[in-house]
Amino acid sequence: MKNFGWIVLILMSFLFVFCKTDTKWKGQEPLQKVITKTRPVQYQLKKIWNLGNGIFCSNEFDAARLNGAVLTDDSFITVLITAENTPVNSSPWYAFKLWADTIKNVKLKITYSDGVNHRYFPRISSDKITWNTVDSAYYLADTASVAKGESPKFCTVSLTLSTDTIWISAQEIITADDINGWAGKLAEKPSVSMEEIGSSFEGRPINLLQIGNPESKKLMMVLSRQHPPEITGWLAMKWFVETLCEENSVAEKFKDEYRVFVVPMVNPDGVDHGHWRHNSGGIDLNRDWEDFNQPETKAIKHFMEQQVAKGGKFYFSIDFHSTFEDIYYTIDPKLKGNMPGLVPDLINSVAEEIEGYEPNIRPNDLNEPKISSTSFFFYNFGAEAVTYEIGDGTSRKLIRKKGELTAKKLMDLVMSSKYQ
Ligand SMILES: [Zn+2]
Repeated sequence: MKNFGWIVLILMSFLFVFCKTDTKWKGQEPLQKVITKTRPVQYQLKKIWNLGNGIFCSNEFDAARLNGAVLTDDSFITVLITAENTPVNSSPWYAFKLWADTIKNVKLKITYSDGVNHRYFPRISSDKITWNTVDSAYYLADTASVAKGESPKFCTVSLTLSTDTIWISAQEIITADDINGWAGKLAEKPSVSMEEIGSSFEGRPINLLQIGNPESKKLMMVLSRQHPPEITGWLAMKWFVETLCEENSVAEKFKDEYRVFVVPMVNPDGVDHGHWRHNSGGIDLNRDWEDFNQPETKAIKHFMEQQVAKGGKFYFSIDFHSTFEDIYYTIDPKLKGNMPGLVPDLINSVAEEIEGYEPNIRPNDLNEPKISSTSFFFYNFGAEAVTYEIGDGTSRKLIRKKGELTAKKLMDLVMSSKYQ
């Protein structure tokens, strides 16, 4: 029976591999500890490209990303998109505007630096407010790679240009100014206030909304936009927060009892520079919640520690992100924070309201380094913590539904007898 242990080990390895490959959804790579000391970033040259033949493109606006452009055959535009620095997560954000001196039919090819795959289906807008996805009849993704079962390296889009500018972007463009404007408007409500809790690497304000009873010691924390391109996460957070701010009896009762802090824009520099992932210190902020080398994470840590020093207790935290699918990254459910069971109950009660929806849930591996916001909120403050990822292509209608339902169910749950 000497070999019994080996047999078990081999069987377990098979089971492990089988379980891994059986997963129908594609999550993120396991978290890896990385050095978060400031590294240089490459800023874009902001300019208008006069491409010839009366065709122009530009990256002169916040959240733009366009690193090079060239016109061939009078109507074929190739643009190059590169990251702020490397190594970097494969979330190749792009955003630029195009126009021409007369009506012109053109082809646009969106290309990236070597080794980067095309990820975001292009969106188009004529006012930077209303966005549509490019009509699939006018879109083609690198057929040679796709035929080999590989991810596309580029895409081409057919467009009609005119003197009216159009914006082409990886997702809706929502800048630091847009979010500050949204937050400022919410702060006009009697139950909401806004304060600046610190500054980004380049000195942009890190704003925090406070919702609910300012005397309450029962606290919650909400984050979004650690990663600049993650618009779908931001949209879910927006609807989540707006629902908490509603003036109905459940929301009013909840706000009498709890105080919710929201940092809706954790990485304003990265967003306004059109970064793929990092802040202006060249660092993925969601890997800096152990070493705190960057001012954005430091400001939030300092603020939370102050609240706890004043007798506050964090019961819940949610950090909104985006990836390929909707996924919840949770703390191992065996571990107990300040309100055990809240996160699984919340996920289940949201799922029950959406027909045919089976949530993707991945509890953090206990051996994973504790470098993300969710780990920090749980291990340092006992907050029942969840990272809520929304799919890049999830319909905006469903995102709204999930954002609103998450807020409603959270309020119902924490006011229910089980959690009182
Ligand atoms: Zn993210």
